[in-house]
Amino acid sequence: MSLTTQQALRSLLNDADRSSLRRIFRERVSFDEPLAPFTSWKIGGPADALAVVEDETELASLMRFCFKRKLPWFVLGSGSNVLVGDGGMRGIVIRLGTGFARVDVCERDGDVIVEAGASAPMAIVTARAASAGAADVGSLSGIPGSVGGSLRMNAGTDREMGDFVRDVWVQSPSKPDPHPVTVQYFYRHSTLARDAVVARVTLGFRKADPHGVREEMQSRLVRRKRTQPIALPNAGSCFRNPDGDKAARLIEAAGAKGWREGGAEVSPLHANFINNVDRASAKDVASLLARVRRAVHDRFGVDLKLEVHLVGVFIDET
Ligand SMILES: Cc1cc2nc3c(=O)[nH]c(=O)nc-3n(C[C@H](O)[C@H](O)[C@H](O)COP(=O)(O)OP(=O)(O)OC[C@H]3O[C@@H](n4cnc5c(N)ncnc54)[C@H](O)[C@@H]3O)c2cc1C
Repeated sequence: MSLTTQQALRSLLNDADRSSLRRIFRERVSFDEPLAPFTSWKIGGPADALAVVEDETELASLMRFCFKRKLPWFVLGSGSNVLVGDGGMRGIVIRLGTGFARVDVCERDGDVIVEAGASAPMAIVTARAASAGAADVGSLSGIPGSVGGSLRMNAGTDREMGDFVRDVWVQSPSKPDPHPVTVQYFYRHSTLARDAVVARVTLGFRKADPHGVREEMQSRLVRRKRTQPIALPNAGSCFRNPDGDKAARLIEAAGAKGWREGGAEVSPLHANFINNVDRASAKDVASLLARVRRAVHDRFGVDLKLEVHLVGVFIDET
């Protein structure tokens, strides 16, 4: 193993850091634990520290600690849009716990208002909102992410998270206490600052007939089951759709359906999905992504842009 790779794999935490984290988080922090179980791809090496933060006060303390120690950190939501390198992640990986999972739904001025903590699953948010008659919430259904991750990604389908956001509260190392921010939303990304952790979000929907909203959501979920390999470990669509076209159409037309690298396979059902079919490594998936991208470029001259976030250390040697 080269010296550079060895350095990239070395923990950034010293004994004092580990003791401080253990004191704050007790059994809710683990060291050198693989991240694979926390991602939908079931892929990813160890984090120097993986801490489950239970409330905004605790998150503020952790933000101050990272700031003081100049430690890198990363917030992991449901892990449904990330490819974590086989070398894992240096610094602290933060997961928001059940203290951030509250979902409150009410009606205000004729609209359906949803106040949700950042770790709340979109499945729960959309189901609760649909029962209250939140118009168009079906466009956010079937997304296996958290509220925080979905906000950063501006996740959605024909309508997106940003279409419904009223307020966003964040915390960051330079401003650790929760504060509101203004965010702009674009196709599968947003202007949310890199160092901002979303703590909670308010969404607003026009009020419609709950029965109709639930039925529409149900038919979207049925369609997803038919067109996407949702039972296999993957991260949804890997590439963003280029202007006026579909990444899946281009990948399929390039003949890539069913291609394999190690344990990773381009889904035969939906060409923009890569499934982990046999203990795939991040290197397998990254190689397959590169191969697909090359094929689409060679055939159509289109440069596909990644939708999934590649994070952590990718080891390019055997
Ligand atoms: C089967 C399947 C179907 C999918 N379908 C869709 C779809 O229809 N539409 C769509 O848009 N996406 C889809 N996705 C992708 C994914 O579910 C979304 O991007 C989702 O919003 C990601 O949320 P997450 O919590 O899993 O984020 P993660 O994957 O954990 O993180 C994604 C990014 O968000 C950041 N992040 C996470 N939490 C926070 C937080 N609290 N504050 C700040 N940043 C945060 C992370 O640091 C990372 O950069 C699909 C994925 C799968 C596996």
